[in-house]
Amino acid sequence: MSQRPAVITCHDCGLLQKISHLPEDGTVTCSRCDATLRKIERIKPADNIEHLLALVITALVIFIIANSFPVIDLQVAGHEVETSLYGIIHYLLTRSDYFLGGLVFLTALGAPLIQLTGLLYILLPLNSNVIPPFAAQVYRVVRLITQWSMLEVLMLGLIVSLVKLSAMGTLIPSVALFAFLALIFFIADILSNINSEIIWSKISTIKQDPRLKDSERPENITNCHNCHLLCKIPEHHEGRCPRCDSPLHKRKPDSMARCTAYLIAAVVLYIPANLLPVMVVSSLGHSEGETIMGGIIYLGTSGDMSLAIIVFVASMVVPSIKLIILTLLLITTYFKSQWNMKDRTRLYRLTELIGRWSMVDIFVTASMAALIQIQGLAVIEVGGGAIAFGAVVVLTILAAMSFDPRLIWDNLEKKNE
Ligand SMILES: [Zn+2]
Ligand SMILES: [Zn+2]
Repeated sequence: MSQRPAVITCHDCGLLQKISHLPEDGTVTCSRCDATLRKIERIKPADNIEHLLALVITALVIFIIANSFPVIDLQVAGHEVETSLYGIIHYLLTRSDYFLGGLVFLTALGAPLIQLTGLLYILLPLNSNVIPPFAAQVYRVVRLITQWSMLEVLMLGLIVSLVKLSAMGTLIPSVALFAFLALIFFIADILSNINSEIIWSKISTIKQDPRLKDSERPENITNCHNCHLLCKIPEHHEGRCPRCDSPLHKRKPDSMARCTAYLIAAVVLYIPANLLPVMVVSSLGHSEGETIMGGIIYLGTSGDMSLAIIVFVASMVVPSIKLIILTLLLITTYFKSQWNMKDRTRLYRLTELIGRWSMVDIFVTASMAALIQIQGLAVIEVGGGAIAFGAVVVLTILAAMSFDPRLIWDNLEKKNE
């Protein structure tokens, strides 16, 4: 085994650093910004693949159960109404709500399914020491789609819906809800057990970029953002990672311009998202719109204060904080500020972490509207506010994805040169 020190560029601040001693078990953090550079676990590679495969197969079985039964089952005035996750998506699409339908499909069904089937495609042959075709490309997709899988947020949305619906009728316990809960734990277990270094080393024979020379200048070296292979950045054109085919660039292209564009669009849509009703409830000839804040007040006054606070944080605090942090990062980076670079990088990591929770209101609205379509008694429709709010969530996620935190540190490097 090579005893050469590992060379890693930090994905958050860009610093090239040599790690002379890799611990057998534990985490290696960046010496400048505290980002996690490597997670190393003392697991035998063979055990890891076999263990992961067992988890993935179990999760897929639970996934099928969760999607075969209704997630909400309610008895209202002699009517029994129920909806599955597929039913929620189907309802949105038949109402021509393609954006919300597509968003719920991606985050609650498509992303987890691609994640699990992609892993099955790689791990099943790998367990018998066979590398499946296009394994690197499939694993790249699995890693990219993971951030769009939001089952834990769906779960919170379903719980909020159940609390709201309990005032309308009698809830019947649903198998699918428990299956989704189990699925969340299994996927979290898979993600914490997955050792990407081991998987990359098993599916690809490339251990180092062949274009990389020992004398390479540090500014021409970067780790592939997807598979972490140390690569040479071509000087005059955009290169690709020899292992996973991801585009290679020193900094995300047009990061500031793209982040600003997404952010401005999100700020503009944030206004109708909060002013327009997210859902319209029609009952006995009387229609009433409910805004996001109205829904939170309803939850609070109907006795569920803790849930009201959770939804308030997810739907009001998180999007506002995200918009403020991204604006602050853009302005300070534009003016080449050297103020608190470490804390600003931490703020960036926070925006990446919390953004998904704002989806909770979309899941609440979609599931309640799909369920309550009892003509002559009560009908719930998705309001314009929900579409604007969904767009805000997607735009802020895209804004955070396009911002390159290494730009925060670039001025320091220029000053020190
Ligand atoms: Zn760093
Ligand atoms: Zn790569």
